[in-house]
Amino acid sequence: MDMNHYTRLLGQLVNIDCGTHTPQGVATVAARLCGWWQETGWFTRMVEFDDACGPGLLVTNRHDAEHYDVLLIGHMDTVFPPGTAAERPMHEDDTRLYGPGVSDMKSGLLNIFFALNGLDHADRERLSIAVAMNPDEEVGSPWSHQWLSELASRASLVLVCEAARTDGSLVKARKGVATWELQFKGVAAHAGNEPEKGRSAITALAHTVLSVNQLANAELGTTVNVGIISGGDAPNIVAAHATATVDVRFWENNDYERVKDALLTLCSQPGDNGVALSAHCLAHKPAMMPGDATQALMQHIEQAGEHCGVPITWQAVGGGSDANLTAALGIPTVDGLGPVGGGFHSPDEYLEKASVAPRIALLGEIISRLPYSNN
Ligand SMILES: [Zn+2]
Repeated sequence: MDMNHYTRLLGQLVNIDCGTHTPQGVATVAARLCGWWQETGWFTRMVEFDDACGPGLLVTNRHDAEHYDVLLIGHMDTVFPPGTAAERPMHEDDTRLYGPGVSDMKSGLLNIFFALNGLDHADRERLSIAVAMNPDEEVGSPWSHQWLSELASRASLVLVCEAARTDGSLVKARKGVATWELQFKGVAAHAGNEPEKGRSAITALAHTVLSVNQLANAELGTTVNVGIISGGDAPNIVAAHATATVDVRFWENNDYERVKDALLTLCSQPGDNGVALSAHCLAHKPAMMPGDATQALMQHIEQAGEHCGVPITWQAVGGGSDANLTAALGIPTVDGLGPVGGGFHSPDEYLEKASVAPRIALLGEIISRLPYSNN
């Protein structure tokens, strides 16, 4: 593969502000990718979701396929605000490339492009392949998750091409993630004259936060973090309202059910001094844990790795991705099939140049060996 060509294309994807909330930038990324895929003979379809986000892009070699032998997934958005691309455009040193989204995950999208275009003609004829690129992964795919789920349910397996871990590991498991908002409604009163007429939402929140902390389970790896609190209007007013936002992470979906039930129970009774509580789930991604079918896919990937000289190691990680969605549908799913990178969501984000070609070869080999015998 031609690394200069790769780097040139990568620059065209990195040097565009395309945070999730910059839909026009995401649309520009989608249009560029769409052009490259069309030029290389693939069918493409842009999918509109909402004015608040950019489009999705579907690429396939069979435009009328009912079923896909493999679905590859990548996202086109980043976490960075407008101005970032101008402030620190893509640049490089001897071993690494730097820039917003360079490894999370513009290079993953490009690895898919190079791997699929490197397939033998026979494989491209034989297999039914789809690539789904979404515009909103960094905020939990609120607009595209249904689209991804529908495509995944028609696929034999899913390969998510987020970057490999810094040590080169692929991702076999991801914690589930849920975000909850707890609201406290008290009664305002003058804090000096008649505090007894007030009911402090802040005091109720403080007590509740301590109870919420108790819901964690270190043994099972379930964490519960009250990450944001707000409330009150002035120092001399008994606070009439307060809000707490809670992040829950878990390996066991059953243990999440326990936390969820406990939060709902906690908020179904009045809090301190009769303050009214309510709980709302803002987002939820189930945990991705490898079942038997995913284990078979992992074996298949290890064999492909052996063939092309890429040692395969696996990690379970605490952050969620679109892999959580497809795994929850029971579709064998593995993540981390992009090149190796690190520093995600920070100005230090980098891509290891030496990993690009081997990971493209690995991805191509995984696909050309499909379907695997124990499928
Ligand atoms: Zn990502």
